[in-house]
Amino acid sequence: MTFKTILLFGAPGSGKGTQGKILGSIPGFFHFACGDAFRNLRIDDPLGRTFIEYSSKGQLVPDGTTIELWQRNIKASTSNGSFHPERDILVLDGIPRNPSQAEMLKHTLDVRAVFHLTCSNMNKMVERLQRRALRDNRLDDAHLEVIHKRLQTYEQETKPVLDYYGPKLVHDVDSSESPMDVLRRILNLVAECGVREKG
Ligand code: ADP
Repeated sequence: MTFKTILLFGAPGSGKGTQGKILGSIPGFFHFACGDAFRNLRIDDPLGRTFIEYSSKGQLVPDGTTIELWQRNIKASTSNGSFHPERDILVLDGIPRNPSQAEMLKHTLDVRAVFHLTCSNMNKMVERLQRRALRDNRLDDAHLEVIHKRLQTYEQETKPVLDYYGPKLVHDVDSSESPMDVLRRILNLVAECGVREKG
């Protein structure tokens, strides 16, 4: 079966996680944040070790490992009743993160819209990341070099995903606004784009 999906897309620090959490709390939406799924792995899980190895350098985890983690989580959320694929909209945050992951998921995802959170103020994003480093205990946010590498990885490897889905599906959302304004814009787009329609 395919999952009705919206993608939250944007550079590290653009606020995908904040919006994803809010959307995921609305009945009929299910939020999956790939980075959170990696961070929730046990350190003795081989996938967890691979995650630390790559994320600590600001690099993407290899596609095979990432897709395996995704499948594992979606299966578990379906069987424990938190995700109802036949009626929920899946809100994906942090996956697919390159065109090859998009290709690997193409038979599983029915992508209805891509919300591209844009933030032209690079300093603002770096500040947001540094603030959450301590709060969320994020090692990859603690070092400026790793943050810069992550922003570079985003530009080079992740941004091409926007071309993969094409301009009809991609909606730019200015994420330098307050979380409430960003949310308002996303909810308006969800209503306008017919994301919830059957098909
Ligand atoms: P951010 O969007 O702030 O960079 P995430 O929590 O989404 O943070 O991701 C943290 C790290 O987890 C990434 O830098 C990467 O190493 C790894 N990661 C998360 N999702 C993926 C993915 N889909 N493919 C490969 N690596 C991923």
